[in-house]
Amino acid sequence: MNTGKKELSIVIPVYNEEENLPELLRRTCSAGKELQTDFEIILVDDGSFDRSAELIRVAAREFPDRIVGGFLSSNFGQHAAVMAGFEISRGSYVVTMDADLQNPPEELGKLLDALRSGYDVVGSIRQNRRDTFFRRLSSKLVNHMVRKLCRGKTMQDYGCMLRGYARPVVAALLKCPEQGKFIPMLAMAFARKTIEIPVRHAERTRGKSKYGFWKLVALQYDLLTGTSVFPLRLLTIFGFLLAAFGILFGCAVFIFSQLDKDWGAEGIFALFAVQFVFAGMTLAALGLIGEYIGKIHLNARARPQYFIAGTTLEKSGEDAILPKMEQGGRNENSDC
Ligand code: UDP
Ligand code: MG
Repeated sequence: MNTGKKELSIVIPVYNEEENLPELLRRTCSAGKELQTDFEIILVDDGSFDRSAELIRVAAREFPDRIVGGFLSSNFGQHAAVMAGFEISRGSYVVTMDADLQNPPEELGKLLDALRSGYDVVGSIRQNRRDTFFRRLSSKLVNHMVRKLCRGKTMQDYGCMLRGYARPVVAALLKCPEQGKFIPMLAMAFARKTIEIPVRHAERTRGKSKYGFWKLVALQYDLLTGTSVFPLRLLTIFGFLLAAFGILFGCAVFIFSQLDKDWGAEGIFALFAVQFVFAGMTLAALGLIGEYIGKIHLNARARPQYFIAGTTLEKSGEDAILPKMEQGGRNENSDC
């Protein structure tokens, strides 16, 4: 889509971040300049309903060489927005970060250095994490779960969005058609050399986190069901165990009833044993069928993950979707 070559693309998903955008742009631009390289900042508006899209558009007009806006037609979620940013990006290296300044842009240089020295994926580990106890706990759970689900290379901190990718890894990610992919997990599979480096972390000072309790639970559930058939396998194992217990119970009932003819509560225990065996076998069969369906499901989800209605790089349909802005309006704080 986009041909002007850059060394570094900084991809930032944006959802209702109007309060953070001016400072984000100012700090990211000056951090980028410090790197003394040709860079672009790609802001992907994920269907915001505040003034974010408008601010991005004004900034992109003002600094067309540095700032690129991408506008999704509606709210597709953070990961889809990052994938859209990858598609728009032109850099030999791509770094992702959040728009709320929890990832200080001043840390970009560390990631670029690691990418330049040959690492294909550069993760980061948040030092002095500035999040609530619940968020830290939930991150621990995700990190543990993903490490269990992954074979091969893993990361310590899957939740830190400040991450760098070499172009071939980005190209490989873009070729994956499946929905709901967990970017760092896939990227680790495509990378030959990976590293994680410590970075600073800041509190969100403006706007609200987009991840409440239920969204986090849904995300973890998606991650588990989208990447693994482990829950179905558990059902199968439970079914087989129940059936085995039924058989053992049936044997015990038979032996006791032979030893004492009055024992056995008129065959009720024997009936229980048969019930256990049937219930167990049914669960095991359900789990097995489910596992086949699960595999088909994992392979067949080829719906588009997002739809880019327009970017600031070309004249297209976004004019119809986005709010009109004054010609030549200046972006409040940026200094690119
Ligand atoms: N975000 C997005 N789409 C969404 C939710 C979030 O693009 O549906 C962006 C958001 O604007 C921010 C980043 O993803 O740049 C991380 O969101 P947030 O800070 O709310 O997540 P948290 O830090 O609480 O995990
Ligand atoms: Mg945040």
